[in-house]
Amino acid sequence: MSKRDKIKLNELQIKTPKCESLDDGTFAFLNWMNCKSFVRKDDHYIHNPPLILKHVNFPYITLVKIFDRFLNSDVIVDIVDGIPLCKSCITDDCSHIGFTICLKQLIDREGFESNEEILK
Ligand SMILES: [Zn+2]
Repeated sequence: MSKRDKIKLNELQIKTPKCESLDDGTFAFLNWMNCKSFVRKDDHYIHNPPLILKHVNFPYITLVKIFDRFLNSDVIVDIVDGIPLCKSCITDDCSHIGFTICLKQLIDREGFESNEEILK
């Protein structure tokens, strides 16, 4: 393996665990939908999605709280006039926004009115 290949491989390994684009957020949402769990001890990816929903402020849905396993902290996404803005990344195109958009679509489609209904 050449030196350049090794550097490439290192870069790939560093990038893999982070969940940062809108698409990553969409993927993380689907992952979370498959288990909806919040299991800290088991470090297996399938049972521990990178992003986990913690709270939605029903009935207005202007705030969504997500736990980010990569950052190991909670992330707040504000929804103002239907447009999500991540308070952690100060952007509108991070993974947390992707997650929130998917979540909002699910809530609208299913007519959920509480956190319990989403987590069922
Ligand atoms: Zn974010």
